[in-house]
Amino acid sequence: MKVSKQILDLIPYKPGKPISETQREFGLSHVIKLASNENSLGPSPKAVEAIKKHLQELHRYPDPMGFDLVSKVSNLWKVPTQNISIGNGSNEIIDILIRIYCEPGEKIITTQYGFVAYQICAQAARVETEFVPVKKDFSIDLEKMAEHLENDIDHKIRIAFIPNPNNPTGTYSTQNQIEKFLARVGQREDLLIVFDEAYTEFVRAVDYKPAVAFCEKYPTVVVMRTMSKVYGLAGLRLGVLVADTSVVDLYNRIRNPFNTNELAQVATVAALDDIDFIKASQKLVWEGLDYFYKSFNEMGLPFIPSQGNFVLVEMPKPAAEIYNALLRKGIILRPVGNYGLPNHLRITVGLPEENEAAIKALKEVLKN
Ligand SMILES: *Cc1c(COP(=O)(O)O)cnc(C)c1O
Repeated sequence: MKVSKQILDLIPYKPGKPISETQREFGLSHVIKLASNENSLGPSPKAVEAIKKHLQELHRYPDPMGFDLVSKVSNLWKVPTQNISIGNGSNEIIDILIRIYCEPGEKIITTQYGFVAYQICAQAARVETEFVPVKKDFSIDLEKMAEHLENDIDHKIRIAFIPNPNNPTGTYSTQNQIEKFLARVGQREDLLIVFDEAYTEFVRAVDYKPAVAFCEKYPTVVVMRTMSKVYGLAGLRLGVLVADTSVVDLYNRIRNPFNTNELAQVATVAALDDIDFIKASQKLVWEGLDYFYKSFNEMGLPFIPSQGNFVLVEMPKPAAEIYNALLRKGIILRPVGNYGLPNHLRITVGLPEENEAAIKALKEVLKN
């Protein structure tokens, strides 16, 4: 059968190595996984409680519009309900936005070292990805991105994906940088500007501003959030889209009516209110990051200060070797060679004892 070159050339998303697989391969009983930016505290307990209560309703189809969930998000984020929709993780939202706005042969733009899902979804839709080189500190160069867009005279670029903060680098864009960027390209009616805020709850930088604040002034600004990170619900798959009604209307036409399942919806409503859990998760991550920074400084390993629940650290030699040696010791980190960073490893903040075990193993591996 004839298949397009873009489909044949697709390199599928490579998730973090599963614990069970690592146990089997290396004959290990105890394995620590710090590879997928999951919440090490587990799921929000309020979400688990809500799911248990709802189990007897599983014979029902989910609410296609997610009424309770959308109302909750509307209250919490001060956004009208008609500007909100839901996805099977933010990954599905990325996929659908590209399908809505890009024709085959058109382009999206993102940053070098930007989250890989944008490019994968684009390629599957026969859409090209343009990467803007990062600044020296690995952060997104929004000035250069605006320049690329201004030079795109035939308007081939239809979506700009701005992960804020970005994964795997952990860098962020400041309010000021975003305002300047939007002043230059925010008026372009045929360019959607998507802020991916998967890690927004972990940001400590005081000059950061969630992009919902820009939606009203710029109808082309779209925001994605996820339940996969701070809320600890990655397994349920739920992402939230905030956008102009024109975008939400198209999005709701294209998506599968039951794209988010009922348990994910009830769990999300509960998790969004689980302030104690959110606070505990933030504290764990912030203390864990500080511990990693201190350890890397002592070990002489360069790292990129992170606004996420993970940190990217540079190894003194190709990271693949170190990654494999750590696996044998039961520690799963994330290699990022696929991003063009062959000497870096990404480490997710775990429980204090997991972080300590990872640093101890890394010290042993680097000694050899
Ligand atoms: C983890 C992550 C997401 C979340 O994806 P889901 O599909 O919602 O699980 C989105 N964007 C970035 C940059 C991420 O790292």
